[in-house]
Amino acid sequence: MTDKGFNDEALILKVKNWQTADKYAVCFSRGHGKISFLAYGARYARTNGGRLVQPFAVLDMNFFAGKKLDTLKSCELISYPLQFDLKQMAYAALIAEVTENLTEEHQPQEEIYELLLAVRSVLTKHNPRLVALSYIVKLLFLTGILPNCQSCVNCGKPAEGDAYFSVVQGGLVCNDCHGGEELPFGTEAQEFMAQLLTLDFNNPQPFKVRGGALMELEKILQRFIVFQTDKPLKSLGFLSQTGF
Ligand SMILES: [Zn+2]
Repeated sequence: MTDKGFNDEALILKVKNWQTADKYAVCFSRGHGKISFLAYGARYARTNGGRLVQPFAVLDMNFFAGKKLDTLKSCELISYPLQFDLKQMAYAALIAEVTENLTEEHQPQEEIYELLLAVRSVLTKHNPRLVALSYIVKLLFLTGILPNCQSCVNCGKPAEGDAYFSVVQGGLVCNDCHGGEELPFGTEAQEFMAQLLTLDFNNPQPFKVRGGALMELEKILQRFIVFQTDKPLKSLGFLSQTGF
């Protein structure tokens, strides 16, 4: 550890207990991007605000910069933790996990921080399943890996009607090119993805989607993210167990 410190506001993504009294946590900050850190003594009540380190809390944080891991020096509450119900909590966990897996340590991207603040505030107001899916599409766009769905990744022909999605090639595959490994990607799911990308969290426009198209898009994005990051999405297990 060096004595170099820094300050930032951040949203807590993940918290794990560490040793007997400490916490290991990951947050996404406004000015420093993703930060993994240790909070020593954070599980004791009378410490430097470490008890505030809870998932989806928004905090003003002071860190000691470390070589591998930063360490929490102190923190203060910016926004009170939200009371999530079980379903909202399950989708919040998915949002946090996808964010952690798709971003790099200390790579600032303020739009992602703003998007996290926005999704945090609407998760309790609208259908958390749609909010989470919209967040994921927007995050894929901001991280530059949103799959191309305007034209076939194989032959370049413009997308027309029902098609397929190749996880390996990372995009839409037309009827002429599809082989058998691809996932179905119907017109409705394609349009749904475009709607989710432009959905205004502050003023969401009502739209209808059939359950079939929703599940089609969810499957595509899950497989795509797991392929891109080479990591399983643990929070999906919780979602399927609870039947959300
Ligand atoms: Zn094609």
